[in-house]
Amino acid sequence: MNYELLQPDSLSGAMEALAQHGDEAKVLAGGTAVVLMLQQKLIAPTVLVSIGRVPDLDHIRTEPDGLHIGPLTILRDMERSSVIQRRFPLLAQACGEVGNVRIRNQATLGGNLAEADYASDPPTALLALGAQVTATSVRGARTIPLEDFLVGFYTTDLEPDELITDIFIPASTPGSRMTYLKYKSRSSEDRPCTGVAAIAAFGAKTCTDLRVAVGAACEVPQRLPAVESLARGQALTDELIGEIAAGYADSIETLEDIRGSARYRTQMIRVHVYRALEELRNGHR
Ligand SMILES: Cc1cc2nc3c(=O)[nH]c(=O)nc-3n(C[C@H](O)[C@H](O)[C@H](O)COP(=O)(O)OP(=O)(O)OC[C@H]3O[C@@H](n4cnc5c(N)ncnc54)[C@H](O)[C@@H]3O)c2cc1C
Repeated sequence: MNYELLQPDSLSGAMEALAQHGDEAKVLAGGTAVVLMLQQKLIAPTVLVSIGRVPDLDHIRTEPDGLHIGPLTILRDMERSSVIQRRFPLLAQACGEVGNVRIRNQATLGGNLAEADYASDPPTALLALGAQVTATSVRGARTIPLEDFLVGFYTTDLEPDELITDIFIPASTPGSRMTYLKYKSRSSEDRPCTGVAAIAAFGAKTCTDLRVAVGAACEVPQRLPAVESLARGQALTDELIGEIAAGYADSIETLEDIRGSARYRTQMIRVHVYRALEELRNGHR
């Protein structure tokens, strides 16, 4: 392993390093993915740009329109944040389900998103929440909705010289209920076989808004607005929940890996979308 380690202590320093070294450089945050890839010789950057000394990248900041989270925020801090637990409990749930506590104490949110491993938990919760990613380079900053940021298998919309500098979650409808169901098919600390994030707002007797994201079973987490809209203005009966669960199971192209076949994952999507909506309807979340 022959690389130069740069440790800029300012955001402009980090961006200049990336602008200078481009494709040859790799950003290093918590290192839980990068170090493994280096050891296994899956990547061979000539420069590692560690962003650990860049100040103010680990914020969890409430603003009137929503919540800003810094990319260096570790997943353990997100799991334990009282603001996230109160305002976006499914995100605290999803972060709390990642690997084990040693991983969560090291892994950052920005690293999790930039890695774009399909078998991840936080991106599914963030998609349901309508999150946006800010990417910054010497050329300026741009905001990317998460559905456009996650392009495919281990692929994002980030340019080689761009850093994630913020993740924004817009405020949810007051009183919304939300949950994240991670299904693990192997061990208790495993990555997800499927992940389902669901958010529902209710009126007197009916559901006024529903958002459901499914991840880990497919290349990138997915929402199906046409299926979600079946719930709008309706009571969430067992029949309707079954129809929505079937809509997700039938429409998502599932993948096959060591955690389950494509056919099995389709069934697990049906089961877990159903369970998530049942939980929300019954007021358990
Ligand atoms: C044993 C184990 C179990 C795991 N289990 C789970 C699980 O159950 N669920 C789950 O979701 N994840 C799981 N993970 C993945 C883990 O969450 C990620 O590896 C971690 O979040 C990556 O963050 P990091 O800070 O370590 O990133 P790094 O390893 O430092 O970087 C990862 C990638 O992101 C890039 N990067 C990092 N920060 C930025 C930034 N700000 N801007 C641009 N690019 C950036 C790096 O260049 C690299 O390409 C597991 C990992 C391990 C090792």
